[in-house]
Amino acid sequence: MSVLSAPGVILGRCNPYGAESGGPRRLLGGMYGPGSARTEGMSLPENVEQGEWACTRRADVRCRMVCAHGHTGQVMELCSWHDDKVYSGELVAGVLRQVSRTERQRGHFEEIQKRQAGCCPRCLFPHPYDELAREVMAWQRQLTAYWPNRWRTAAAQEIRTRIDDAGKLMDMARDAGIIHNCPMTLVPVS
Ligand SMILES: [Zn+2]
Ligand SMILES: [Zn+2]
Ligand SMILES: [Zn+2]
Repeated sequence: MSVLSAPGVILGRCNPYGAESGGPRRLLGGMYGPGSARTEGMSLPENVEQGEWACTRRADVRCRMVCAHGHTGQVMELCSWHDDKVYSGELVAGVLRQVSRTERQRGHFEEIQKRQAGCCPRCLFPHPYDELAREVMAWQRQLTAYWPNRWRTAAAQEIRTRIDDAGKLMDMARDAGIIHNCPMTLVPVS
């Protein structure tokens, strides 16, 4: 039993995939829309990015992602440290034997804590810059319709100017620390 598990709380199965979908990606999903599954730059293990991460262990820890400014992700349940039998060959009196020993293994709580050093999407896109970012993406989509024949038209230039202005606003907000990278950490909750 993990020291982190809260007594009296019945935990379900470890759900690292849910952790992933309920964590940064879900927050970003609100940003980029449900069709989006952007995980670039989030340092997720490859199998998580591919959504193939399954775990058969019971969950030991209830936890959530928290940034320095108090933004939280969804509560998730993950496995923690556990003992596993590790098998290896060993020469005993000239004979190779299979021996097993018990080893402490990190659980998904420790794995995600270590790997998922992503930034808080809400600190990266605080209101109203989240809406501005969405607008910029819409303008960029509009602009693709102008390529290549109408690229030099006044209408296309007008969209480019709008995107540039939005970029300047974002830069100012970044300089002022309103937009910032805020690492998220995985912390146990009761
Ligand atoms: Zn697990
Ligand atoms: Zn934050
Ligand atoms: Zn922050």
